[in-house]
This record gives sequence, structure tokens and C-alpha cells, in this order.
Amino acid sequence: MNDARGVLDRLGVSGSLRAVSVGETSFDGKGPLLTVRSPIDGREFARFAGATADQVDGVVDAAAQAFAAFRRVPAPRRGELVRRFGERLRRHKDDLAQLVTLEAGKIVSESLGEVQEMIDIADFAVGLSRQLYGLTIASERPAHRLAEQWHPLGPVGVITAFNFPVAVFAWNAALALVCGDPVVWKPSEKTPLTALACHAILSSTVAEFSDVPAAVCSLVVGDGSVGERLAASEKLPLISATGSTRMGRSVAKTVASRLGRSLLELGGNNAMIVAPTADLELAVRSIVFAAAGTAGQRCTTLRRAIVHRTLGDRLLERLGATYQRLPVGDPRTAGTLIGPLIDERAWQSMERALEIAQKQGGRVLTGGDRVVTGVPEGGVYVRPALVEIDSRASIVQEETFAPILYVHRYDTLEEAIALNNDVPQGLSSAIFTNDVREAERFTGPDGSDCGIANVNLGTSGAEIGGAFGGEKQTGGGRESGSDAWKAYMRRATNTVNYSTELPLAQGVRFDV
Ligand code: NAD
Repeated sequence: MNDARGVLDRLGVSGSLRAVSVGETSFDGKGPLLTVRSPIDGREFARFAGATADQVDGVVDAAAQAFAAFRRVPAPRRGELVRRFGERLRRHKDDLAQLVTLEAGKIVSESLGEVQEMIDIADFAVGLSRQLYGLTIASERPAHRLAEQWHPLGPVGVITAFNFPVAVFAWNAALALVCGDPVVWKPSEKTPLTALACHAILSSTVAEFSDVPAAVCSLVVGDGSVGERLAASEKLPLISATGSTRMGRSVAKTVASRLGRSLLELGGNNAMIVAPTADLELAVRSIVFAAAGTAGQRCTTLRRAIVHRTLGDRLLERLGATYQRLPVGDPRTAGTLIGPLIDERAWQSMERALEIAQKQGGRVLTGGDRVVTGVPEGGVYVRPALVEIDSRASIVQEETFAPILYVHRYDTLEEAIALNNDVPQGLSSAIFTNDVREAERFTGPDGSDCGIANVNLGTSGAEIGGAFGGEKQTGGGRESGSDAWKAYMRRATNTVNYSTELPLAQGVRFDV
């Protein structure tokens, strides 16, 4: 706790750690003890009681009450709230990033980038607060006005994963708040301190606004059962859930059974095609960042490289050489590029995937082993693995949340696109090519079937301005930029008759 305590104090989390907060009021959890360990060295640095599912109901009730008042606060005023939240984030950027590194194990530059993403989405949301545009539509009836308006939807349940412990919260919270929706956040139980810190920053911002109810932001820290209760809460019209496909399936079923709306951001199995005209130098750098960066723990991590047969050997040689000199170690140390895996279980799933890959004919070209020297004791450090394997091996269909890059070779673009699409997930994809026809084909209607399709850059590291998300088992949700805000609002179609007649649509006659 020593390293975290000072940071938490500066971020506004003082005293004992409490699992439930409604605005600035906090309550002790009544559930099992949560032990918080840093993946850097496995050391326990906090322990406190988590929330129970039963504690969720009171928090949701408070959010529903807050909604009744918050929906009447003008959207630009809600934008002002988010603007001040963004200002605080700017002030606390270094501290928050330090906590992300401590809890999620990201290298400092990536943690800073994650907090920057919070700032960026706050800026985006401020602008959006004056642009929640509806449409005016030509009416077929004389002296009628047909229009669409967007109204606040209601309190939103936000469930987040360990690997983006702050950015995904901000994507949801910034948009939900300008849209007029209170937020009830259930963070990953693996990263509760960053959640407490973000909540403290947001709730203290809310406290500056006398016209905004405190319960527009609340936090329930607990295990999956807390998320399950959120998903079942009738008073939450939208559940935005980020995590594994297994979790998303469960949330989707529960929310659908009450006819609620879910926004799902689930697992990926992302591929890059390296075509004959590719700039190899750029491709290699981009592959290494996307496949090995964040120790393979991004939903957009590159998991499959589909390389044209004419380039295969050259590319593998260069990749292998780069992989071997990747600095693995303490994420706080300057120069480290690959930090730890989140825990032992992550290593077990990496080990298992590599064993299966080899049984299915794969060859581990480099990496895949534990690093024990020159790294902090107690953490799980691995050398990213490069595996050449037949694309028909069943293991490549799975998302293993660790740095394993499967490499396949191809002959025709049709074959490469088919391989890109031939997995159950549909999040991110990329092609490296200098052939405009190939690039357009890849991004066109019969190209990549993913939510993200890039040309001459990797699969990871999206900007907040675009809509983020994926198809198929990735869940179909879109968050962040573009018109993703529409998921957080309800659309009302209004027809106004300002004539002295009562004409019916489609020329229907009903004379009484
Ligand atoms: P996880 O599914 O184990 O947990 C995610 C969250 O869901 C946690 O808060 C957890 O407590 C909660 N949860 C677990 N079971 C639940 C249930 N039945 N009902 C409700 N909530 C439940 O995922 P993780 O290990 O934290 O994160 C890694 C996974 O998340 C990977 O699959 C990764 O691809 C995915 N991810 C996706 C995106 C995206 O935007 N598509 C972003 C980040 C992570």
C-alpha cells in the first residue's frame, strides 16, 4: 500500500477503502475481502471488503432518483460538468497513470496514454453536449412538422475489464453524462484502486454543481455477481459491458430477458494481412507494438499475422530478431516495453495455448517462456511468442489474453481476407499494402468483417474520434466517438399538426 497511499491521497481517496460510493458518500462493502495485488511483483497492497449483489439495488435506486432531476439539466451545462472533470484529469494525469501501472502493470507511457484517452473523450463529450442533433423530416401531410429529438435514456450500468481500467470508464461516463444519464460503475475487481481514484475525481467535480444530484455517479466494487445484479436491474435501461465473450454472453441474456439495451465490447482475435507491396519496415514495427505491446493484453492486440508467401521468410526473420531484443521487465523502468501479465492464471492460459498450438503442428519460433532474471520477483513476466502455424489449427480461433502471435502464409488476397474473417470474433483488423486496390477491397463491403479495418497501421491504438467496437462475438457495440452517443439516449419522433384539418398518413380515410 505504501507506494499507492500517497498517490491515492493526492487523488482524493483518503482513509479506509470502501467498496460502495454514491457521489461522495461511501459505504463499506458487505461481501468477501478483495485482495489487491500489483502484477509488477505480486505484492498485496490493499485489502478491503467488496460489495455484495444486494448492495447494488440501493445504488441503482439512488441513480434512478438522480435521473429524474439530471435529465432536466440542459445538455451544455452537463457538458460543463464533463469539461471540469477533464480539467481535473489533466491535473491528476501523472498520479492516475502511476496507479494504472501499479494495478494493471502497463508501462508508464501506455498508462499516460490511457489517461490521455480519458481527457480526449471528455473534450469530445463537451463539444457533443452542444451537438446532440435530431432531424427535421419532410412530412407528407400539409402543415405538419415531423422531427426527431434525442432525450436522456436513464441510468447506465457500466461494467469494465482490468486491461483498460480507466479509459473505458471515461468513454462511457463522459458520453452518458452529457447525454443526461447517471452512471453506476462496476470496475474489474483486479483494478479497484484506479476505480476509487476515478470516482473520487468525478464525484468531487459533481459536488461543485448545485444543480446536479450527487448520485449521477456511483461505484460498486465487487466480483462478477455484482455485475450480474446490475445486468438484471430493471431500472438500468442500458448496460454497457466490456470484458470477455463469456461475460458478454451472460450479460446479453440477462439484459435481453428484461428487454433492456446492452452495449457489448468483448474479446477480439485480430489479424493483419501483410501484402506483397507492404513497407516491411513499418509493418514490422507495427506488428511488434500491436502483438507484444501491453504484454498482449489489449482487446485489439494483434493475434494473427497473415503474410504473403513471397515475404514470409524475410518478415519472420526480422520479427524474430526484434522479438529477441524486446526489453521485458518492471513497467516503471524507463526503456521497458513489455511489462507483466496480470496474474498466474494469465500465464497458465498462455502456456496451455502454446502447448495446444504445438500439438496442432505449430512451431514456436521465439519466446513463450517465463522471464525470471532482471525482472521484479513475484510478477509474471514472459517473452512474447511468435508461432508459425497452419491457419486451420483450432487454437487460432481462440483469444488467449497473452502475447502470442500466430503467423500464417497466403497466396491470394481472397484467401487472406477469408482467413482474416474466419474466426468467431470481429473486433480489429489491418492490411499493410501500397496497392490501392487491395486497400480498398480490404476496407470495402466484401473485405474485413471487423468493426475496425486499418490500412498501413496496426490493429491496436485507436483514436477516440471514431466509433470503437466489433462484430460477431465481439458483441456489436460501439463506444467512444462518432455517433456512439446515440446508444445512451432515447429517440422520440414527434409529429406536430399545425393545420385546421386532420389528414391521415398514407391517404387513409376515416370520416366520423
Ligand atoms: P472478464 O470478462 O473476466 O471481466 C470483465 C468484467 O466483467 C469484470 O468487471 C468482471 O467482474 C465482470 N463480470 C464477470 N462475470 C460477469 C457476469 N457474469 N456478469 C456481469 N459481469 C461480470 O474480462 P477481463 O479479464 O477483465 O478482461 C479481458 C477481456 O476483456 C478480454 O477478452 C478482452 O478482449 C476484453 N476487452 C474487450 C474490450 C473491447 O472494447 N472490446 C476492451 C477491453 C477488454
